[in-house]
Amino acid sequence: PTPLSPLGFFATDTLLSDEDIAIRDTVRKYVADKIRPHVAEWYESGSVPARELTKELGSLGLLGMHLEGYGCAGTSATAYGLACMELEAGDSGLRSLVSVQGSLAMFAIWKHGSEEQKQEWLPRMAAGDAIGCFGLTEPDFGSNPGGMRTRARRDGDDWVLTGNKMWITNGSVADVAVVWAQTDDGIRGFAVPTDTPGFSAPEIKQKMSLRASVTSELVLDDVRLPGSAVLPGVTGLAGPLSCLGEARFGIVFGALGAARDCLETAIAYSQEREIFDKPLAGFQLTQAKIADMSLELGKGMLLALHLGRLKDAGTLDHRQVSLGKLNNTREAIKIARECRTILGAAGITLEYPIMRHANNLESVLTYEGTSEVHQLVIGQALTGHAAYR
Ligand code: FAD
Repeated sequence: PTPLSPLGFFATDTLLSDEDIAIRDTVRKYVADKIRPHVAEWYESGSVPARELTKELGSLGLLGMHLEGYGCAGTSATAYGLACMELEAGDSGLRSLVSVQGSLAMFAIWKHGSEEQKQEWLPRMAAGDAIGCFGLTEPDFGSNPGGMRTRARRDGDDWVLTGNKMWITNGSVADVAVVWAQTDDGIRGFAVPTDTPGFSAPEIKQKMSLRASVTSELVLDDVRLPGSAVLPGVTGLAGPLSCLGEARFGIVFGALGAARDCLETAIAYSQEREIFDKPLAGFQLTQAKIADMSLELGKGMLLALHLGRLKDAGTLDHRQVSLGKLNNTREAIKIARECRTILGAAGITLEYPIMRHANNLESVLTYEGTSEVHQLVIGQALTGHAAYR
């Protein structure tokens, strides 16, 4: 009999609407045509045509796709998750670009911005004509962003921002940076046009993960902004955390895309590769690996779809997103590493996507809340005790 695909075996498509499937298939085709032929080269050179890609992703309606109005597509959250999955099956860097643009930068402005800020930025960002980044993490404050040192002080009607942000996706290519800073009233967000004097964004080099993604430092050296640059809708850490919840949701699906691509590659390879006079796929040890990995992929997909439906129903609790982010990134990286063993030496090169995905997933495990932080979120939900400090 013809072998089943891992997710085909779980029949997860029966849980999708026709619209979900149409969006998923459009993104899958885009990734096959425009990303797969080039991504190994981008990864090896550590440079990616971010502006062209953003424009293409905007034309497909994938930027801020689950937001309503201002040129955004207004799809379901589940459809957004499925798009993230297909993008990350291409490369986690591509999904990161879309997550940061749509769920972090655009969402911050959409949810907490003034009408003027929304009109100025969202239609251009949705179309892919303007790129956004999201500056929360600092060199000394990652898992505990509340300690941030970046400061915004008032000077007459103006705001003046000083400080450093670190590990900022899209930083060097962004037109607008959503920057979070301490003020006398608590943490506030600012929409900072990146051509403002005093703003610079040197790119971080020598990464061994997410090489097909731009990662930067943001330097804010007395950046003077008009009073209208502050996001009026929120004060305190709830502002950035609300955005991270959106992006994390996409990662719950996205990480599984990388895992699926590894698993499909390893299964295909095991059928072609002859060892001891028969296909590697015909050995029990190989089948045990494939069976266990497919189970984890399918279980992760069922969890992702369940969280998607809860989000679409408006009842998703951010701590439930932690369940999905923790499980699906952790299982995805295990799957990637196990798939690499099936390819043997061939698994270590860029000829196959597996090592690239495995290395990318190291970042995915760390950003948007590390696995440890999500364990603590879940632990607090289940015991009532906060154990962060
Ligand atoms: P730390 O916070 O220093 O953590 C180090 C270790 O300590 C981790 O294992 C962590 O889990 C553990 N730890 C922390 N707290 C506890 C605790 N209470 N108990 C036990 N263990 C603990 N940030 C942005 O703002 N915008 C971006 O666009 C962005 N893009 C990124 C892109 C990439 C490629 C990467 C790698 C990171 C990006 N980040 C971004 C930063 C990311 O969010 C942080 O790296 C992350 O929050 C972790 O912070 P840290 O690296 O400072 O690690």
